[in-house]
Amino acid sequence: MPNLSKKRAEALHKSGIHSPDDLFMLFPIRYIDKTQIRSIASLSGSGETATVVGRVQSIHEIGYGRKKRLEVILEDDSGTLKGVWFRGASYFKKLFKEKMPVSFFGTVKLYGHALSMAHPEVETLETTGETRNLQRIVSVYPGSKHMSKAFITHNLIHSWVNHTLEKKQSTEFIPPDLLNKYQLPERNSAFRMIHNPENLSEPPKAMKRFKYEELLLFEMSMARIKQVYLDPKPGPRFEISGGKTSRFFNELLPFELTNGQKSALSEIKQDLRSGNQMHRLVQGDVGSGKTIVAIGAILLALDNGYQAVFMAPTEILAEQHYHTLSNFLKNLNVNIRLLTGRQKSRLRTDILTSIEAGHCDIIVGTHAVIQEKVRFHKLGLAVVDEQHRFGVKQRADILAKGEAPHLLVMSATPIPRSLAMSLYSDLDISVVKGLPAGRIPVKTAIRTERKRKEIYRFVEKNIREGGQVYVVFPLVDESEAMDLKDATMGYEKLKKHFPDAAVGLLHGQMKSDEKETIMNRFHLGEIDILVSTTVIEVGVDVPNANVMIIEHAERFGLSQLHQLRGRIGRGNRQSYCILLPGERITETGRIRLNKMVETDDGFEIAEADLKLRGPGDFLGTKQSGLPDFRYADIVEDQDILRNAKRDAWHLIQSDPELQLEKHENLKRVFQPYFKERSEYFGLG
Ligand code: ADP
Ligand code: MG
Repeated sequence: MPNLSKKRAEALHKSGIHSPDDLFMLFPIRYIDKTQIRSIASLSGSGETATVVGRVQSIHEIGYGRKKRLEVILEDDSGTLKGVWFRGASYFKKLFKEKMPVSFFGTVKLYGHALSMAHPEVETLETTGETRNLQRIVSVYPGSKHMSKAFITHNLIHSWVNHTLEKKQSTEFIPPDLLNKYQLPERNSAFRMIHNPENLSEPPKAMKRFKYEELLLFEMSMARIKQVYLDPKPGPRFEISGGKTSRFFNELLPFELTNGQKSALSEIKQDLRSGNQMHRLVQGDVGSGKTIVAIGAILLALDNGYQAVFMAPTEILAEQHYHTLSNFLKNLNVNIRLLTGRQKSRLRTDILTSIEAGHCDIIVGTHAVIQEKVRFHKLGLAVVDEQHRFGVKQRADILAKGEAPHLLVMSATPIPRSLAMSLYSDLDISVVKGLPAGRIPVKTAIRTERKRKEIYRFVEKNIREGGQVYVVFPLVDESEAMDLKDATMGYEKLKKHFPDAAVGLLHGQMKSDEKETIMNRFHLGEIDILVSTTVIEVGVDVPNANVMIIEHAERFGLSQLHQLRGRIGRGNRQSYCILLPGERITETGRIRLNKMVETDDGFEIAEADLKLRGPGDFLGTKQSGLPDFRYADIVEDQDILRNAKRDAWHLIQSDPELQLEKHENLKRVFQPYFKERSEYFGLG
């Protein structure tokens, strides 16, 4: 590190810069191309950026006190241009002398007949002929509050970086064969290309290397986690598919399977027969019928003498799955139990005993099913619904409940397949394409507050015709009392407005048996209008509900809106989704709502959402287990991601402990990284 004053060292420290490597890793946010010097006469003043070189003709201080400004007239052979400072006038007044050769860089505007630059970047020169110093590309570094307090300018940072780059080499740790394969610059030259580019094509070349480096480490950690914690072992072979499985699909199932369901099921069957543990993700749009696919796998487990567990992220969902499964399987003589965290201890003991004794075939529940006390008799299959709500740790935990049970995880957040393959690198993927036949597409519209009366008349008509209605209010954070107030107030208003209808309220802060009662009554058609926060977002299935009004629709994310809308359009009635944005709606808010009107394809919506929000927010960084990448953008950089993944998995497979000599440096970097990632997942 350069020799620094205590104050500056502290400022760097507070900005997260502790070592030469940290300094190298502080990349410019942009570059200024000063290779082009313009003559003043050639400038139009239409807002172009330019560098001009000349001599100071005159210096004027204008105004008093806070309104004081400094004007400096610069003259070259062709004309004059005015530099203006509203801030720091006294500092710049001391800097300039008449006749002094200087350069200005900035945005040129025309005021009256005078060309001017406000707060140009200034370099003082020995002579106006001295252009060598100017003809370069200038790196502009990100500032921070701490840095600007310590007067650390980006010029200063740049000189420190250069100083440090000369003194200290950064250690290359990507194995040479991989560097060669993609013609990536070696680490030190990449830093040089970033901080001191000779031309503007160099920084992107160097960036490619840093992105690759970052993604390689990430994918290596995924590969290693799988190797250590989730490696598929030989699994139980489910060879018998007579019995319950055939009876269910041939006699009891009230509808034809869709092609998507059939192909997902056949991939699953192959896994289950293979003798190896299955680790499969089933992706499918909302309403594509993933539950039936899971039931198929569960019945195979039962036919082969094993138990199955079905884990859902919320109590509402667990209860619903419990009812759905009980209903579908009622004539098959299977014993299904529900296990949640809130059951009374007598009941709980009874359930736990019957699971351990093997009397219970299927256990449906919340994450209560992975608690220590739960012991299975012979667990053969674990199904995890809405897996984006669970992490790697829960997956590992549920697998520890049996001897290499098969794992089926289901997700209704469709993400582009290539991306899914890189993110859930440790899972095989099936996609349930298409929706069951006969679904009538939901009609979606954006309406303003002025149309509220009309909307309510429409609601009334639908209720009269036997339909049911959701009214959804945003709940950004469960603790935000404001949002809850919105829903509660909305509920009171609707009750008044529809005196003859049954109106119900559902929110996350209610006790679970209250929630259950409300949901059951809605299911049974005893409630006409269900006012709800987003607790109904995932999975809830009430086919008779055909109208959804989404209040403050602009506050929801696109994928969330799609999930919500997926609650309707499940029956044989025409369904309507009415988006009611608040008054103040942003540009991206509008884009989101328009997209909802435009399409109901989950994959298309997911992709748009991904673009609008960026991957971290889209996937919910926490659930996805995705780190905040510093350089890579997993959407834009999918090509690099794919390569990094392939190389990383190959590397970890061929040299799991990184013991080869060519991996020595890589090992030094990877070890702490892997430790951090494992701890993040609650592993190791
Ligand atoms: P998701 O994939 O969103 O979890 P579900 O499994 O909840 O979807 O299924 C949505 C609805 O579609 C349920 O009411 C289910 O019974 C019904 N369903 C599933 N498969 C079919 C099919 N092949 N034909 C008709 N209806 C189906
Ligand atoms: Mg579902």
